[in-house]
Amino acid sequence: MSEESAPVISWKARVILCPDQGPLTGHRLITRGPEIVGLFPDRSLPHIDREIDLDDSVLLPMPINAHCHLDLSSFDSPIPAGGHFTDWLTRVVMHRRSIGLSATDAVSRGIEQLCQYGTRVVGDIQASLGIASDLWSEHLSGTVYHEIVGLKPERYEPLWEWAHASLADSSARIRHGLSPHGPYSTSRVIFSRSAGSAPLVTHWLESADEREFLATGRGPFRDFLERIGAWPQAYRPITNPWQELLTGGRWTLVHANYLSNDDENELAQRDVRDRIAAIVYCPRTHAHFGHLLHPAARLIEMGIPVALGTDSLASNPDLDVWNEAIWLSHHSRLLSPRQIVTMATKYGGSAIGDSRYGSFSPGSFAHLWGFRLRDGVGNDLWEATLDQASSRSAVIYFGELIDVAKR
Ligand SMILES: [Zn+2]
Repeated sequence: MSEESAPVISWKARVILCPDQGPLTGHRLITRGPEIVGLFPDRSLPHIDREIDLDDSVLLPMPINAHCHLDLSSFDSPIPAGGHFTDWLTRVVMHRRSIGLSATDAVSRGIEQLCQYGTRVVGDIQASLGIASDLWSEHLSGTVYHEIVGLKPERYEPLWEWAHASLADSSARIRHGLSPHGPYSTSRVIFSRSAGSAPLVTHWLESADEREFLATGRGPFRDFLERIGAWPQAYRPITNPWQELLTGGRWTLVHANYLSNDDENELAQRDVRDRIAAIVYCPRTHAHFGHLLHPAARLIEMGIPVALGTDSLASNPDLDVWNEAIWLSHHSRLLSPRQIVTMATKYGGSAIGDSRYGSFSPGSFAHLWGFRLRDGVGNDLWEATLDQASSRSAVIYFGELIDVAKR
């Protein structure tokens, strides 16, 4: 069926929870095929072919998991943190080798979890070559970033070729992007080559040791890189990663856990700010490592979208990004429930480089959740959706009502 001939559907709900406009009553959401036509007052609806009544539910955009590694879904429980971040990285590498589950099976397992949670929009990092791209597009939409890692050309060049060739696989459902892994693990050559060519993501200032390593080439990261044979002959220190690595393009920075005053001053500058699409915060992973308080609230105040991600099952018990939002509502005194829901929806669209996600704007994808609120909740509907006893009542994906798994 072409999009023009697809039926126009009116979705009726008790309230429409719109990140931009706030809670709307007396309105319907109109979709045509996979896309949103718009929000209309009940008294002036356009022509519709069908109405679907979600009863007493609240309607909100489907939450977006803006950062995950589906090919690390072979872990049954998180790998314990402790010691330096590089000690955890070593344990992950060893554990992964001992499990023996193929990357394709791990990705399938991760996709199964996402479908079960009704969160089918992702920013997934893919480090495994040879996985057919239709594995994602069959069940998910969003962006798959192909990871390039290595400080030595013999490591990063073949990965660059694979990652760059993968960009041609982009389709309407899944876009493909690039992910230089991070400043401590990936050559500046790859950062500058990537700039401007595709949706871009990188891990950024994740651990306390990272800054020292970038500036001096010493510390636990140096030991780790030497141990795994990844240390290059020559290392050129990075004193200002914002200026030296993010030389062009629009970057999504994952974590940004350790931002100094100087970093925030950089971010306040127009030319740097224009190169940042969003920052992704993974709250339960952050807590798993016991990092210092994340600057999410301050960044949002600066006008930078901060999205939510789960990271992988190596550091998180599940891939449900809504659980991140609920966790954050219990643990953050600085972020309001409305901000948290916006992080899980609209800002997720910014983070995966596509504003057609996480929004009710005309032309956006009709990826929606019907949500039944717990009886007796207060007046703050944003807070009520984050109440653990509230539950998802419908999942709408590309404009179609699909299976509902009870939370
Ligand atoms: Zn990650």
